[in-house]
Amino acid sequence: MNGATTAGGSNARSKLDVLERALDHGTVISDPELMGPYRGDHANLVDPGEPLAVLLPGCLGEVSAALAWSHAYGVPVVARGAGTGLSGGAAALDGSIVVCLERMRQIRNVAPDDQLVEVEAGVITAEISKHVERFDLFYPPDPSSFEISTIGGNLATNAGGLRCVKYGVTRDAVLGLEVVLADGRVLHTGGKTVKNVAGYDLTRLFVGSEGTLGIITAATLRLRPRPVRGPVTFVATFATTEAAGACVSSIIRRGLTPSLLELMDHAMINAIEDYRRHDLDRSAAALLIGQADGPDAPDQLEKMCSVCDEAGATMLVASHDPTDAEALLSARRLAYFATEALGTTIIEDVGVPRSRLAELIHAIGAVAERHHIQIPIVGHAGDGNLHPTLVLARDDPNARATALEAAQEICTAALDLGGTITGEHGVGALKRAWLAGELDDVAMWAHRQVKAALDPSGIMNPGRAF
Ligand SMILES: Cc1cc2nc3c(=O)[nH]c(=O)nc-3n(C[C@H](O)[C@H](O)[C@H](O)COP(=O)(O)OP(=O)(O)OC[C@H]3O[C@@H](n4cnc5c(N)ncnc54)[C@H](O)[C@@H]3O)c2cc1C
Repeated sequence: MNGATTAGGSNARSKLDVLERALDHGTVISDPELMGPYRGDHANLVDPGEPLAVLLPGCLGEVSAALAWSHAYGVPVVARGAGTGLSGGAAALDGSIVVCLERMRQIRNVAPDDQLVEVEAGVITAEISKHVERFDLFYPPDPSSFEISTIGGNLATNAGGLRCVKYGVTRDAVLGLEVVLADGRVLHTGGKTVKNVAGYDLTRLFVGSEGTLGIITAATLRLRPRPVRGPVTFVATFATTEAAGACVSSIIRRGLTPSLLELMDHAMINAIEDYRRHDLDRSAAALLIGQADGPDAPDQLEKMCSVCDEAGATMLVASHDPTDAEALLSARRLAYFATEALGTTIIEDVGVPRSRLAELIHAIGAVAERHHIQIPIVGHAGDGNLHPTLVLARDDPNARATALEAAQEICTAALDLGGTITGEHGVGALKRAWLAGELDDVAMWAHRQVKAALDPSGIMNPGRAF
């Protein structure tokens, strides 16, 4: 272990000596170079601070000892999964300890008869479904980052994803949690039963709490039987965003249950075609990709295609072949890389009632024009959740200021349409100043009361979320 000269000199060193004695050898990292990869996340607008140390605990007892130490010394704590967050919530704070759960990767127990799995927080999300595949089960929430993010980070941000339109978000898949509180005590919430109304729903309180109330160390998750058929897939393009928006509303209104319903706007279609040719219609205003799974998947597909036709689709391709499904989805999966190739990207995340999607797309177009920047859009249309991606010139000295202004205007547009400033990425550091635009004074007060009750000395991710 190297000297902790980064924050607070000899005082910091003596505090760290106490911590190192309490934890296993190798758990505490204080060499600035080794701490580097644990400082930031994927939010390009948030500059990480200089932590006192990074901790890589290997078990519940170590997390508990670390937080008891933080509580005693008043040291801020930043919980961290894989650092794939897009709102700066896992970015290190000056003088903090970053508690990264990456070594807690055990799948503790699978109960196929109860369709449950108990996992530690550092498990990579995609590993859960792989692990339970042999029981013909799967874990539904699938953020696009599911191969690189941790389940702990998904729980702390209440992550969404492509399949959530049918299967629900992370919150809908969790039954119980093991959490280390700010003073080091261990709290167990919920249980292993599908129904449970004993006491307040503390499980849901911690889901989406962005590391501000405690550190989630393990969770009991609900699994689902793997669909017997599908996925079957359609791709449709539209000449106007209104037609695409109307199609989404119509699919839902008719009681159809797509297992995925994604949208790309004109700018995103072209960004993807520029990046890798897929023969998408470059003139289309919007493109929808839909899927269905389960025993009635073919029937669902036929009905969704009829809705697309009625909504005026200019091109419609459908396939029952799961291999084609991957090919048809591959354009959607390239959105992140296609925009990264254009410049520095800020991936925004706003939600509106589905019937207002077209209005939101137009409002985002107006923001792009006003600031002379590209803002291609991709999103989970079935949930009314869009990701406008701000593309900034890498050599523009004003890029940061422009991005912040544009992002704020997009959030305001979403609120004006009855929506939210974040559908799934969380408030983090990035959107904290805008939260009061969505939550009223009483809701903000309630948040502060809950925080004060569970984290009275305010050490858990201070200054984040609210
Ligand atoms: C390419 C790409 C695609 C993405 N697609 C999606 C998507 O489709 N849907 C979506 O919702 N998100 C998406 N994201 C955002 C991100 O992957 C999610 O927010 C994810 O849940 C973060 O997981 P993580 O392990 O990386 O958490 P981190 O980034 O490390 O942390 C995120 C937040 O959770 C807190 N936290 C982390 N672990 C714990 C814990 N154990 N206990 C308490 N608090 C904790 C942190 O303090 C921070 O506030 C995407 C990101 C990228 C880079």
